[in-house]
Amino acid sequence: MPREPNSQSTGAGALLAILRDGQARTRAELAQLTGLARSTVSQRLDALMSHRWVVPTEDFISSGGRPAAAFAFNERVRVVLAADLGATHARLAVTDLGMTVLAERAAELPIDRGPEPTLEWLVTAFREMLAEIGRDLTQVCGVGVGLPGPVEHASGRPVNPPIMPGWDGFPVPEWLGARIGAPVLVDNDVNIMALGEHWTARPEVDHLIFIKIGTGIGCGIISGRRLHRGAQGAAGDVGHIRVPSSEALCRCGNVGCLEAVAGGAAMAAALRAAGVDARGSRDVVALMRAGDTRAARLIRQAGREIGGVMASIVNFFNPSVIVIGGDIAEAGEQVLAGVREAIYSRSLPLATQHLSIRASDLGDRAGIIGAAVMVVEHVLAPDTIDRALTG
Ligand SMILES: [Zn+2]
Repeated sequence: MPREPNSQSTGAGALLAILRDGQARTRAELAQLTGLARSTVSQRLDALMSHRWVVPTEDFISSGGRPAAAFAFNERVRVVLAADLGATHARLAVTDLGMTVLAERAAELPIDRGPEPTLEWLVTAFREMLAEIGRDLTQVCGVGVGLPGPVEHASGRPVNPPIMPGWDGFPVPEWLGARIGAPVLVDNDVNIMALGEHWTARPEVDHLIFIKIGTGIGCGIISGRRLHRGAQGAAGDVGHIRVPSSEALCRCGNVGCLEAVAGGAAMAAALRAAGVDARGSRDVVALMRAGDTRAARLIRQAGREIGGVMASIVNFFNPSVIVIGGDIAEAGEQVLAGVREAIYSRSLPLATQHLSIRASDLGDRAGIIGAAVMVVEHVLAPDTIDRALTG
């Protein structure tokens, strides 16, 4: 049977991967699941316990009714620092290895202040949050950062980010790593949100698309349970797909881009042109909630335009779940109805038969959960664990 590339390990890392579902298991159960001799299982459990990745659980009763020693993944042994940095707003979290949020903070933090002031603030905030929960930097196993622009994932450096002056090529992982003393992983905000939503939808979803409808529009793609970044990290840039009916000028220089008709900035501009005070996507949703019919009409139409583009993507990619997030998703059914209507009327029946289209479960926490997932999947990858235990 073909195996997932990250499950090649038959060592201690593979045992840990089994236990990460949170269920405690006995040596006999682990031997049965892995096909390993019970003595080998014991050796590997000892290695995992020596690093406290795994702990024995108390009072475990086996199926025979007789007490038996069982072992569980120790989610609390290390912590993860997660940051979701937007254009003007930052959300931070300290999580355990099961993505449980132990401390959380949100603040106004304009990204255009440049990398060093922004990251200095981040380090100070993380230190304070760790102190609040009685932890310190020695317990941090990694840092995950989402940025509002393109990132070269291998190096963790932003690449020509349009709204982030001074950040182009800035070595975020090296800079933060030197101050925190742990590996640092960086990706763009939509990708980490897709990771967060996929984690929440686990374990059944193989192919998922997360669409963020905020100031602009972008999507993160999970294909075969993995994030698909594309050759240059530009996969999912649906905001600049052409909408046939539109001649609206886009910030990218083209006309008729999806974002230029259905993005939050475009809707706010349309409202301002009609004499309504709307500065951004949050104002558009607030106006709709306050009963403004122009805002409601714009949001419904945006849903249909986005659905029209997504209909083609559904035919092409055949996802089983589409999750809608970002500020405009807060409009709920007003935007979802339009998206669903366009997708179901224009996609092929086979592709939509079992398709679920829903609003984000995580809301504005999707980014921090995804940043933590990115770190945990890296740190607890079976091969990484095997190397850590043998090295
Ligand atoms: Zn464009």
